[in-house]
Amino acid sequence: MENLPQVMQPIYEGKAKRLWETEDSDTLRMEFKNDATAFNGEKKASFESKGRLNNSISTLIYRYLETVGVPTHFVKQLDDTNVIVKRVDILMVEVIVRNVSAGSFCKRTGVEEGKAFSQPIIEFSYKSDELGDPLINDDYIREMQLATPEDLVHLRESALKVNEILSGLFAEVGLKLVDFKLEFGRLKSDSSVIVLADEISPDGCRLWDLKTGEKMDKDRFRRDLGNVMEAYEEVLGRLKERLGGE
Ligand code: UDP
Repeated sequence: MENLPQVMQPIYEGKAKRLWETEDSDTLRMEFKNDATAFNGEKKASFESKGRLNNSISTLIYRYLETVGVPTHFVKQLDDTNVIVKRVDILMVEVIVRNVSAGSFCKRTGVEEGKAFSQPIIEFSYKSDELGDPLINDDYIREMQLATPEDLVHLRESALKVNEILSGLFAEVGLKLVDFKLEFGRLKSDSSVIVLADEISPDGCRLWDLKTGEKMDKDRFRRDLGNVMEAYEEVLGRLKERLGGE
């Protein structure tokens, strides 16, 4: 019995990714799955190339962010669906940045989709599938001890900086960055350092074609618009042209 191979288990499995331990206790392997979910997991599907596409898109973006001075968890791409990332404790606060009205902003306010804001809106939600990631504010975050007020200043500043960098990048490839979600984590190797973590892909961003207004993101899946992976492939192709990559 003692010779039976050990079956490796992920240390975490989420809706779109799995995390695996590596030989280095300060890093993890992050695997992008082909599964797609929406409406807090109520709508489910699987797309054959989704893991590869999101991994490629997120890798290009994270490498770019690192080159322009944004600290992230990214270490290196391993293969089509895996990257090595620094091990972090994820903050249970999701940071959403909005440049144009869409999604839950419209639902909450009655404002029609597509209104450009005079300046970006930052909002926070409590990262809890059980509760449906509810909107929270600075006072909730302080009292729930999800982050310190100093951390929050840092999260806001980082999110605005990432927004400026990525809005510029996407504009260069003919896409409007409408809104997106960021997650941050404290480095396991130095908990005083907070870095950008998770992924940045059309799963967590709204991207509209600047010429046609066409949606090039997960709204194609949410709203049954079809050609979901074709849109992700197009986003990847444009980013590759701008940033390089095989
Ligand atoms: N988002 C995400 N994960 C979430 C919630 C939102 O990636 O758990 C992204 C979403 O794809 C969009 C942006 O954050 O690009 C703003 O989403 P919104 O609050 O409008 O929520 P939704 O429309 O997904 O209900």
